[in-house]
Amino acid sequence: MQDKLNLMIPGPTPVPENVLSCMSKHPIGHRSGDFQEIVEKTTEQLKWLHQTTSDVLTITGSGTAAMEAGIINTLSKGDQVICGENGKFGERWVKVAKAYGLDVKVIKADWGQPLDPNQFKRVLEEDKNKKIKAVILTHSETSTGVLNDLKAINNEIKNHGEAISIVDCVTSIGACNIPMDEWGIDVIASGSQKGYMIPPGLSFVAMSKRAWDANALSDLPKFYLDLKQYLKTVNKNSNPFTPAINLYFGLEASLKMMKKEGLNNIFRRHARHQKATQEGIKAMGLNLFTKESFGSPAITAIQPENIDAEEIRKSMKNDFDILLAGGQDHLKGKIFRIGHLGFVNDRDIISVISALESTLDKMEKLKAPTGQGIAKTISVLNNE
Ligand SMILES: *Cc1c(COP(=O)(O)O)cnc(C)c1O
Repeated sequence: MQDKLNLMIPGPTPVPENVLSCMSKHPIGHRSGDFQEIVEKTTEQLKWLHQTTSDVLTITGSGTAAMEAGIINTLSKGDQVICGENGKFGERWVKVAKAYGLDVKVIKADWGQPLDPNQFKRVLEEDKNKKIKAVILTHSETSTGVLNDLKAINNEIKNHGEAISIVDCVTSIGACNIPMDEWGIDVIASGSQKGYMIPPGLSFVAMSKRAWDANALSDLPKFYLDLKQYLKTVNKNSNPFTPAINLYFGLEASLKMMKKEGLNNIFRRHARHQKATQEGIKAMGLNLFTKESFGSPAITAIQPENIDAEEIRKSMKNDFDILLAGGQDHLKGKIFRIGHLGFVNDRDIISVISALESTLDKMEKLKAPTGQGIAKTISVLNNE
């Protein structure tokens, strides 16, 4: 039987019934008082989610739009930037920076490994003339399930004194603690179809005071993504263009749910699910692609030995209607990824681990006794 899809990919993520029903009505006028109220409320709650008093702006567009906006609104042609690259999304920000004529220096780590804060330290300390204007990086690298050490890297950026930080937090915001003001992060970009629990179509850019200072000097071309326009209108609880109004209905409902659960509970839930997934995977004899110590709270990547990862994914979809993510580029067929981001509960984790064990059993590839994986998962869930 189909039509009982369980989305366990790192975006789009499952959407709560309540959020869906809030969205399924006629749009209202985007210049109306009713809509202004929604903008006011959601803007306030977005600041709460980002743990900031800075501006958080909402754009109609996917997460990439938010990230591109962060880059083009703070930099000028020929500016030197450092990009951290240890996966598919890191690669994307290098491409965006180059597309706008920035002078890009790349700090790399192998896919599956975290970026090394010391490398950032070295390059930033060598820059005596303060030529580097920004450091662009991905916090949770979704393609490999690596959580980069944002706090440590951001400290190096602050020590530099001139460069700002522009961070893709698309699969970390709403999954783990990112106190924007306390850590002094300048730009945070994210997208609705991830931790926000609503469908794709909205994205968010948080801008610190330093980011706005940089904006005053920025000469890169922009129109739809000109954040000054968004700032001007958000201060009147409005939007420069026609926004995805129905997604705002969803955003209002989902932020209310998040507020009710509380930030610490949200982070704890993600950490528990991450651990229950990792431990279940290991107990059934599969290998984690990414070491637990730097695994992402949003996604766990698995590297099965002597089995085509795509075969596992296909069976999981056919037999259980559970959608897992595959490997990208050179990792295709080598890894698969389980998303545990956003609207995920213990039932989802228990079912994905047991379905995976059942799938391997059917393929006669299960290395451990049947049930050992799920037993471990249950034990983590009941004791954490
Ligand atoms: C999903 C995702 C994005 C945004 O991609 P869009 O398709 O533009 O929404 C950016 N960065 C990371 C790490 C992601 O996981």
